[in-house]
Amino acid sequence: MTNDQLWQRAIQKIPGGVNSPVRSFKAVGGTPIFFKRGKGAYLESVDGKRYIDYCMSWGALILGHADPKVVSAVQKACSNGTSYGACTPLEVELAEKITRQFPSIEKVRLVNSGTEAVMSALRVARGFTKRPGILKFNGCYHGHSDSLLVKAGSGVMSFGISSSAGVPAEFTAKTFSVPYNDIDAVRQVLKDHGKEIAAVIVEPVAGNMGVVLPKKNFLADLRELTEKIGTVLIFDEVITGFRVSDGGAQKVYGIKPDLTTLGKIVGGGFPLAAFGGRKELMDLLAPEGSVYQAGTLSGNPVACTAGLATLAQLNTQLYKTLERNTDSLAKAIKETAGQSGIALDTPHIGSMLGLSFKDPKQYNRLFHLFLNEGIYLPPSAYETVFVSRAHSRKVIDKTIAVFQKAFQRL
Ligand SMILES: *Cc1c(COP(=O)(O)O)cnc(C)c1O
Repeated sequence: MTNDQLWQRAIQKIPGGVNSPVRSFKAVGGTPIFFKRGKGAYLESVDGKRYIDYCMSWGALILGHADPKVVSAVQKACSNGTSYGACTPLEVELAEKITRQFPSIEKVRLVNSGTEAVMSALRVARGFTKRPGILKFNGCYHGHSDSLLVKAGSGVMSFGISSSAGVPAEFTAKTFSVPYNDIDAVRQVLKDHGKEIAAVIVEPVAGNMGVVLPKKNFLADLRELTEKIGTVLIFDEVITGFRVSDGGAQKVYGIKPDLTTLGKIVGGGFPLAAFGGRKELMDLLAPEGSVYQAGTLSGNPVACTAGLATLAQLNTQLYKTLERNTDSLAKAIKETAGQSGIALDTPHIGSMLGLSFKDPKQYNRLFHLFLNEGIYLPPSAYETVFVSRAHSRKVIDKTIAVFQKAFQRL
């Protein structure tokens, strides 16, 4: 079965041929690639071509594809049953691990996706404050739950829709969205509507509109302003948690949010995410409290095993190496872009890298030049390039060489 044949079948039976819109290549043009295998830094397509992968399952795979320790732990876990729908020691271990790494998280609940984590954290914030409103930031993505699909980053930006059909206006009527890093705009909304706002939610490093770092004091000011009016501060660390440090962006910037959402890396490539924070808030959840939240497969033993086997391999040394490799990649890209007269910024932190072209169409051309050379970049100009442990010096150097060649042809 060739790639084209698979795509023809897919578009007959799956809306747009994909199970998540940014995979569709709509933003960059062309036909999506079907993969049959991933190993280390590489993906192999059904047509037998190998690609260095810089999408890395949208940041979920910090150790690379099919990490041997994760795979063998998961194989063993599977043979003990894939879901009990009941308590297992692995949930306790993972909860303890997360709370150790994130001091702001006193209690945590495991769910199955980042969307679910954010949706549930918001419900807790609304239950706690008894207020309906939310303040978010333009270009931040927090999953696809109804009240958050307002100016929601890459997926919607790539397709030129600022909000989604199918969401009644009532659901987003109390969702305020202001420019990222604009503390004056936050101040104004909180001044006018503070008493209605349950939560301010932010990606502490924005990773869904390229990579945008928080301005100096932005996060600290958010902390101070929300505390003053009893609004819950939620850090959406679905990308940044375990990515920019072993304690997420909140460790890097030294800010304690009330609630945190985690996803991607924490599940080690499986559908597992988490939300947690202050005891006082988390104890509002059923069965302790009156905020309802539940999940058939939540905390299942296989996903917990993958998460634990991943987190066990993360350490300061690894974060340093990842940062060094990403930094040298970023610097080399910027330098060669400059030599070819291409205006490009390469904002980066830890192993997150943005390729921010003045003209996003240049990204789309670059994407295809790279595919030809066997490198798979994220299929949208507004996504983040993720470097993993499997991206060795050799892989990075090869990537830099391809950039040099590609920029000359752009
Ligand atoms: C990916 C992402 C989500 C949604 O997670 P899913 O597992 O795709 O539902 C939420 N917030 C941020 C910041 C993300 O990057």
